[in-house]
Amino acid sequence: MTIVSIAGRLLAAFLLVLTAFPSSAQEGKRIALSFDDVPREAGGFMTPDQRTIALIAGLHEAGVEQAGFFVTTGNLEKDDGKGGEARIRAYVAAGHVIGNHSHSHDWLWNGDVAAYIADLDRAEAWLADKPGKRPWYRFPYLDEGRDPARRDALRAALRERGLANAYVTVDNYDWAIDGLATKAVREGRALDRGALRDFYVETVVDTAEFNDRIARETLGRSPAHVLLLHETDLNALFIVDLVKGLRAAGWTIIPIDAAYRDPIAALEPDTVYLGGGRVAALANVAGRNPASLVHERTDEAELARLFEERVVVRSRP
Ligand SMILES: [Zn+2]
Repeated sequence: MTIVSIAGRLLAAFLLVLTAFPSSAQEGKRIALSFDDVPREAGGFMTPDQRTIALIAGLHEAGVEQAGFFVTTGNLEKDDGKGGEARIRAYVAAGHVIGNHSHSHDWLWNGDVAAYIADLDRAEAWLADKPGKRPWYRFPYLDEGRDPARRDALRAALRERGLANAYVTVDNYDWAIDGLATKAVREGRALDRGALRDFYVETVVDTAEFNDRIARETLGRSPAHVLLLHETDLNALFIVDLVKGLRAAGWTIIPIDAAYRDPIAALEPDTVYLGGGRVAALANVAGRNPASLVHERTDEAELARLFEERVVVRSRP
């Protein structure tokens, strides 16, 4: 066989592979929404009860059928957690579902593994008989362990409990933008509400686009994505605008139950580079350098700079 005929056969095989998956290559972008740290501390714009009412109304208005709310049960014991159980019930009554986000929101890398597992068991015990409960565990800080031993101990612990890793595919720092806005409001600084909305929506949509590009380059298809958000005032204020922004960029919002049926849900990426979400982890396994997998707006200093530049209203000198 000549070199030319080998090359020809390889090309034919390559073309066959391409045509075998035409629909997956052109698949539309799909994403589910998830909100962490429920019931979250008060922000700068409303009470926690008002936030829940606004967020439920916004999700309904935006036509979001089912989002995931990840409960940190220790928050129920804090001052801002008063009424938290009723708020969690309200999310579920509106068609959304709940999962485990630990009791104490600890880092896995930096503590005792047995204590970490006992803490997630404590949250699971509270959640066990609650309506809308899914067998999902969302790692606080997306920290799945920075060494193979911790990572594998937790993978085994989740498996033993029948819990799935409620990974995200789109990491983003919505919490940091909310933190900047809360601080500015408490300091009495004037904010341009429209600029805040645009900055927030643009940041989240960009991080989704960024991770979808990486997914297509890595998997050769667009998986069902899961967007990481937090139960913040900014999400209550702007969820309708965010969904509009995602749709304008070609995204379809899907129920979180559907997102976790994607084949990537069954994978356990063989890396300890797990803190940027599942797409970034799979890209890392495929040989991508972590530095190329981090969006510039998952950086607190960069967000603070842009917030000052675009959102804070400066008084005239
Ligand atoms: Zn969290």
